[in-house]
Parts: sequence; structure tokens; C-alpha cells
Amino acid sequence: MTLIGHHAFITGGSRGIGLACARALLAQGANVTIAGRDAASLDRAAEVLREYPRGQAPDVPGPQVGTCVLDVTDEAAVHAAIATAAQQLGPITILLNNAGQAQPAPFAKTSSQHWQRMLDVNLTGAFHCTQAVLPQMLEKGWGRIINIASTAGLKGYKYVSAYVAAKHGLVGLTKSLALELATKNITVNAVCPGYTDTEIVQDAIANIMQKTGRSEEQARAELAAGNPQQKLVQVEEVANAVAWLCQPASGAMTGQSIAVAGGEVM
Ligand code: NDP
Repeated sequence: MTLIGHHAFITGGSRGIGLACARALLAQGANVTIAGRDAASLDRAAEVLREYPRGQAPDVPGPQVGTCVLDVTDEAAVHAAIATAAQQLGPITILLNNAGQAQPAPFAKTSSQHWQRMLDVNLTGAFHCTQAVLPQMLEKGWGRIINIASTAGLKGYKYVSAYVAAKHGLVGLTKSLALELATKNITVNAVCPGYTDTEIVQDAIANIMQKTGRSEEQARAELAAGNPQQKLVQVEEVANAVAWLCQPASGAMTGQSIAVAGGEVM
């Protein structure tokens, strides 16, 4: 329970990797706010999280779970929501920029709207959230900013050039900000999962099935084949890396882009 008294703000916390990270940080004692666009799914996720055992005696109040409806591409909404979250559960000392979308298209069929959408959600959203949270971290004199990038931030993949460009941008932002904040007791790192078993991958599987006529099993195997461990990454494996980076004892880790991908990227 090394994160008692901290407040973690997690974009895209209603499912998948974000929800697993919320669990992992709650288990370390942090208060957690999960954010996303859909109020109903946030409420459902918060209910599950509040039931989650946190290793405390029944009479000790556990860490709190808050929800926050926002679209990370809406700058004004992000600033307002983050101010409200801080009023409710205290200054935010941990920011997990996790909200993301991966829409595929061959480059020749990538419209400028599609391109802009991928940059807005996967890169500019992290910019807005980080700008909104940073003053709170600077005032506290402590912070952990973790950007969920992707192996697509470290290497290319065909048919997702806009997503790959956005995730490479997120890795670049991570490095620059880590240097700017290096003397402020605020670390900035990227966690880069390979194909992870979540709804994004379900969508990719559906897309492969539709485009190639392959079965679900074949499509899933095709995605897993790029991972030397021959399997999809599990959300808990990503969350474990995130929780470790948040530890007070991980203070010398900054500016890193850590692949959680079974050895796909070395
Ligand atoms: P999911 O689709 O399971 O979850 C995405 C989350 O982001 C949801 O909570 C969704 O909620 C939220 N979200 C999406 N768009 C927005 C938005 N504009 N504003 C606010 N919230 C938003 O995805 P994953 O858990 O798989 O992915 C999480 C992150 O991990 C993403 O950044 C993704 O790129 C990255 N990643 C995923 C990999 C994978 O294979 N799964 C591999 C590598 C990286 P709602 O729709 O209600 O807004």
C-alpha cells in the first residue's frame, strides 16, 4: 500500500487496460478517478472497483473511486473535469493518459479527418490532460505521468499509419516532458503494450475477419503471432508495469518507453 494519499486520474478507465490499471493502483492504496465519454459504463466500472478487495481491515475506509465524464479531445471539458476531480478526491499526483482509439485504414484511404481524429484522441488528448494536471503536481512537488503508448509508438505496422504516427508522437512527448520535469520530482514514462486482449483487439479481430474471411480463431492467432510468446498480452501485465512506475521507489525511471509485448520489440 505504497500509494496511500495519492490520487490517480485515469483516462479511458471504464474498461480494458485503464480499468486494470485502476485496480492495480487501488490495490496500492491510491484514490482513483476513472474518466471516459460514457457515464453508464464509468458507473458500472466504478461499482466493480468499489467491490475490489484492497487488503485492508473491514473497518478501515478504503481508497475512494470517482468517475468523470469527458472527451479527451475537448480541451475545456478536460480542464473543467480535472479541476472537479481534484476538488472531490484531492490533488492529482498520478496521471495515466490511457484513452485511445485505433481505427485502421490503408494509407491511401486515410482521409484527413481520420488522420486528425487519431492524432486528437491518441496524442492531443494526452497533451490536454497533462497540461490540466501538471500545476497540481508542481504544487505538490511529486508526480507520475504515464502515457499508454503502444509498440506502435516504437515500430511501424501497416494499415494503421495515423495511429502509429500518433503513438510515436506520444513517445516523443514523453521524452521531452521527462527532461523538462527531471528536477521537479515528476517522472514521465510511456508504457508500450503489444496486442492486448481488450475491446480494441476485438475490433481488430472483427476487421480481419471481415476483410479476409478468416475465422475468429485464425484472426486472433494472426495478431498473437507477432508476439514471440505467441499470445496476446493480458491487461494485468500492462497494469503491473504501470503500478511499478508509480511507486515512490521508481523515481529514477523517467523518459522511458517500456514495451510490454512478450519480446516483440527489443
Ligand atoms: P478499450 O477500447 O478497451 O478502452 C478504451 C478506453 O478509452 C475506454 O474506457 C473508452 O471509453 C476510452 N476512450 C476512448 N476514446 C475516448 C475519448 N475520446 N475520450 C475519453 N475516453 C475515451 O482500449 P484498450 O484498453 O485496449 O486501450 C487503452 C490504451 O492502450 C489505448 O491508448 C490504446 O491505444 C493502447 N493500446 C492498446 C493495445 C491493445 O492491443 N489493446 C495495444 C497497445 C496500446 P469511452 O468509449 O466510454 O469513451
